[in-house]
Amino acid sequence: MQLVIAGLSKTYANGVKALDNVSLTIPTGMFGLLGPNGAGKSTLMRTLATLQEADSGTAMLGDIDVLKQKHEVRKVLGYLPQEFGVYPRVSAYQMLDHIALLKGVIHNGERKALVEALLQKVNLWEHRKRRIAGFSGGMKQRFGIAQSLIGEPKLIIVDEPTAGLDPGERNRFYNLLTEIGENVVVILSTHIVQDVQELCSNMAIINKGRLLFAGAPNDALAEVKGRIWEKSIAKGELEAHSAKYRVISNKLISGRPSIHIFSEQHPQDGFTAAEPSLEDVFFSHIHGALETAAA
Ligand code: ADP
Repeated sequence: MQLVIAGLSKTYANGVKALDNVSLTIPTGMFGLLGPNGAGKSTLMRTLATLQEADSGTAMLGDIDVLKQKHEVRKVLGYLPQEFGVYPRVSAYQMLDHIALLKGVIHNGERKALVEALLQKVNLWEHRKRRIAGFSGGMKQRFGIAQSLIGEPKLIIVDEPTAGLDPGERNRFYNLLTEIGENVVVILSTHIVQDVQELCSNMAIINKGRLLFAGAPNDALAEVKGRIWEKSIAKGELEAHSAKYRVISNKLISGRPSIHIFSEQHPQDGFTAAEPSLEDVFFSHIHGALETAAA
């Protein structure tokens, strides 16, 4: 089973081209879709989740035509949106029970066993009688995972899952995601490089609706190896360095700016070779230092 997206495009009524001829093959396992805000990630996720239409292109999940056989897709889809909108004032137990019923788990005993197992799995058993509206961000996300797992999905779409979670909650969420079966296509859309670095065996980078890279994180790192240089500078020196070099990131380390630049050759001038991170790859693409389009 894999998800094969070919030539997917979407232009909104206001003229924004949110997806520009995106072609991407996504195998089973955890796949990271990385891009800055406004890159088109939600548009792609919502299209795959049958919540909105593309203008052109195709997406096949195994032999299901995702854009045409919406009913078939929904049967095998687990979707965890960025925001649920209004959180229901019913308990976690009641809500899961309700969703399971909607997804066709009609037999009462079977549904009870399923709901109980899911609440245990996502560590919300103790809180099962509490209203979801009163949950913390991390608890809401874990509830989201529980509901997305009903019905043994083959495709799980998780949109910006860790935004707003504290580090402890994020770790619990990561652990939960990695327990999802290996035979499921899991797409994790995020602007947080660390999410992809820690979880994903394959990834893509998109920006302004265009695919900039697709492959394994290690291949992404190989792209920039030997081309990333770092230097600690004084605050007032940033502008001059930005004018002279291709600055791809700028972080404060102990209150002093530390810049990473992209350069084919050693720039001298006090720079040292940096061990590239996925963040360097991401920013090199976003800033246009790597122009090679993904295959
Ligand atoms: P991301 O999820 O990567 O932040 P989105 O898919 O939400 O990106 O948005 C991609 C682009 O499309 C952005 O420029 C956004 O402003 C625009 N956009 C998203 N939804 C709509 C919409 N319903 N109508 C018009 N423009 C939209």
